[in-house]
Amino acid sequence: MTFSHFVLTTFGIGIIILLVLMTVTSFREKKPKTAYKALRLLPIGLVLIAMSLLGAFIPTWVLNLLSGLLLVVAVYLLWPAFLMKRGSESIPKEKLDERTVMFSRNELKPGTEQFEAYYKAHPEHKELDDEFRKKPGLGSPESAFFNPLPYTASEALFHTVDCLQPLVEGAAANKITNVSPDKAERFIRTWMKKAGAVSVGITGLKDYHWYSVGGRHERYGKEIAGDHPIGIAFTVEMDEEMVRSAPRGSIIMESAAKYLEAGVIAVQIAQFIRNMGYNARAHIDGNYQVVCPLVARDAGLGEIGRMGLLMTPELGPRVRIGVITTDMPLKTDKRGFDDSMEDFCEKCMKCAENCPSSAISEEPREEINGVKRWQINSEACFTYWCLAGTDCGRCMGVCPYSHPRNFMHNMVRWAIKHFPNFRYWAVRMDDLFYGRKPKMLKVPDWMRVKD
Ligand code: SF4
Ligand code: SF4
Repeated sequence: MTFSHFVLTTFGIGIIILLVLMTVTSFREKKPKTAYKALRLLPIGLVLIAMSLLGAFIPTWVLNLLSGLLLVVAVYLLWPAFLMKRGSESIPKEKLDERTVMFSRNELKPGTEQFEAYYKAHPEHKELDDEFRKKPGLGSPESAFFNPLPYTASEALFHTVDCLQPLVEGAAANKITNVSPDKAERFIRTWMKKAGAVSVGITGLKDYHWYSVGGRHERYGKEIAGDHPIGIAFTVEMDEEMVRSAPRGSIIMESAAKYLEAGVIAVQIAQFIRNMGYNARAHIDGNYQVVCPLVARDAGLGEIGRMGLLMTPELGPRVRIGVITTDMPLKTDKRGFDDSMEDFCEKCMKCAENCPSSAISEEPREEINGVKRWQINSEACFTYWCLAGTDCGRCMGVCPYSHPRNFMHNMVRWAIKHFPNFRYWAVRMDDLFYGRKPKMLKVPDWMRVKD
């Protein structure tokens, strides 16, 4: 066997193995269209093997040229990341005022003192906010995707999250239980993973992690002290089937379920730390004093992507974040700056093209508050939520990083991280197998009111 035969056979077998893996994975993920697309590409691998076997009937120069081309493509695609120029990390200059966040603005009641004061300080928001106030609103029976089952379930779930609110803070035990920072960190991390966290990271907190002023409920207008030096951030996975049918009703139920899951983990850990004699606060849905994506980013859990959410290496944006802040001396994680996801976002833009409100930028990143990033149009996004009745999540559902955690997709995410030249082609492959603008799926069978 000549070198050319060897190259053609190896590539042929490699392509067949990948396509068979893709077919099996797609059937298991209940994506038959993707599976059939992979099956239809199998002849490419078979042709390469046939060319190698029938080498005697094909001019040698043709075999040499083809195998040379395949090798060049392979070297190009697998050129390692450590040989490429990397960006540098940046940190925000100023703290964020929680009153400017859309959830806080949504809670302002026309005619109240708070309402008048807010729009006097921010007249630029008035017209934009009047738009979302004209829409039916989140969870409304008049909204576009109203479905009584998941909508009512989400109300029940958010009500249960509210029941956790009295548990976020509390007094620390009088006596400190002495445990080394290493052991405490290992214990907490392992417990959180057993309780359902996908990833856990610990970071030293800086000023910019804290909101400057509270924006919701009884915290409205109160300065946030931000006196805990340590932040423990974690993520919980959102169910892929529930996210895939976003922005239909399944997404609001899944968001609520994961806020609850994250809340339960956070209040338990905060209580445990207080029992150990240290101060701790759980930051859960509707009651955050920190900007969770920034704490999670600095705790090494991911980077901020084009859609403005935390992109994790395991699941992309298909997660919810929880945070506990404390003065317990814990060993912190070193954040290794990784620009692979931002670079992938530069090339991908799938969320921007699929966003129903065009809220996601298709432009390159720009410097905002000292950080090079993408800025989403929060008003346009929230106005769409109030029309849809759900928290949309279409961007999360179409993101190539959101695919399930299994051998096939983990391998692709690993290759995206390590091989910069592969990223562009990974986007194109995702488009080929899953569609550039995937169809909006129906909610899962078990939550349909009509068949
Ligand atoms: S869809 Fe693409 S551009 Fe958008 S966040 Fe995901 S990877 Fe980035
Ligand atoms: S949640 Fe929906 S409206 Fe908002 S940015 Fe994502 S796709 Fe756009």
